[in-house]
Amino acid sequence: KRLGWAIVGLGDFALNEILPAFGACEHSKITALVSGDRDKAREVGSRFGIGEEGLYDYESFDEIADNDDVDIVYIIVPNAFHADLTVRAARAGKHVLCEKPMAPTVAECERMISACRDNDRKLMIAYREQFEPHNLAAIRMIQEGRIGDLRQINAHHGRELDPSSPEDQWRMRRDLAGGGSLYDIGIYSLNAARYLSGEEPVEVWGNVSNKPDDPRFAEVEDTMCFWLRFPSGVFAECSSSYSVSSSKRGTVNGSKGTLSLDPLSEYRRHKLTVSDGKEMCEQIIEEDNQFAAEMDHMSLCVRDDGTPKTPGEEGLQDIRIITAIYEAAWTGKSVTIDSDYSRSPED
Ligand code: NAD
Repeated sequence: KRLGWAIVGLGDFALNEILPAFGACEHSKITALVSGDRDKAREVGSRFGIGEEGLYDYESFDEIADNDDVDIVYIIVPNAFHADLTVRAARAGKHVLCEKPMAPTVAECERMISACRDNDRKLMIAYREQFEPHNLAAIRMIQEGRIGDLRQINAHHGRELDPSSPEDQWRMRRDLAGGGSLYDIGIYSLNAARYLSGEEPVEVWGNVSNKPDDPRFAEVEDTMCFWLRFPSGVFAECSSSYSVSSSKRGTVNGSKGTLSLDPLSEYRRHKLTVSDGKEMCEQIIEEDNQFAAEMDHMSLCVRDDGTPKTPGEEGLQDIRIITAIYEAAWTGKSVTIDSDYSRSPED
C-alpha cells in the first residue's frame, strides 16, 4: 500500500519538482493539498485526482486530523512557517517531512522535535542530497579511502536573487526567511561538509559581504564565507552568495587524491570526478530521482516504524551551526559548537 501525502504550499518548488516526483515513487501518493489559493488547489488537485475532500487552506488545515487518507504532511512554505505547521500537523496525528532550512531559530527546531515526539509522530527534514546517488557514491569512496586521509573540503553555493520572482520576494525578508544566502543555500555547503567528512564541526568562523547599495540585501546577507574545523583536524572552507551566477559545487582533498562534485546539489544531472593526484576521472553513476527516493524513504519509515535518515535532530544541528556562524561573523571571533549530535553512519 502506498502511503498518503498532503502537500502544504503550492509554490515553485512544490509544483515544479515535488508533485511531478510522485510519479517516480513506489510507496507514496498525493492525497491532499493545502493552499491559501482555492482556485490553484482545485486546478492542481484535478491534475492529481484529488477532489474537494482533499483540499485544505491554512485555516482548515487542522481538520486534516479526520482524513485517514493522509499519513504524512510535507511542508514546503517559507521558512518562518515551518515550525507552526509542523506542530499543527503532529497534533493532527500526521508524520512530517519539512523542507530545509528546518526553521529560523534553534528554539523553533526544538519545538518541532518535541511536538513530534509528544505525539509519537516521525519528523524528517528534506535533505534531498543525502538520497542522491552521486553524493552517496562520494561518501562511500571517501569512507573506502579512495582519496587517502581526508584533509580539506571546499563547498560553494551561489545564485542571483531575483526580486521579480515570487519565490525570491520572501527570501529578501528576514522575518520570513530567517536569514540570507547562508540559510537558503549555504546550508547545502554546510550539510555537505558534514556528510562528506562524517564529522560534526567543533569550531566555526564567518564573514559577511553585501554587494554595496543593493536593496536586495537590506535585511538578509548576500555573501557568507564560513570555515568549519572538525575534530580530526579536517577543515572546511565554505561559502554562499546571492549575487553570483548559479554554482553548486564541492571538492574534497585527501592525502592521495581529490574528489569533486560539480554540481553537488542540482535537481538532476550531477557529476562526480575523482583524481588519484594525476588525472581527473568522471565516475559513471546512474541517475535516480532524489525527491522520490527521499519521499519513499519517509513512507517506509512510517510503514515499518523506522528512523528517518535525516531526522529533526539533523536539521537542528545545521541551524545550531548556522547560528554560530552568524555569531562569529558579527563578533569577528570563532565560536565553538557545543553539541553531542552525531549522524547515523551511511549503510
Ligand atoms: P515559493 O514562494 O515558490 O513557495 C512558497 C509557497 O508558500 C507559495 O505557494 C506561497 O503562497 C505559500 N505560502 C503559504 N503561506 C505563506 C505566507 N504566509 N507568506 C508567503 N507565502 C506563503 O517558495 P519555494 O522556493 O517553493 O520555497 C518553499 C520552501 O521550500 C522553502 O522552505 C525553501 O527553502 C524550500 N525549498 C527547498 C528546495 C530543495 O531543493 N530542497 C528548493 C527550493 C525551495
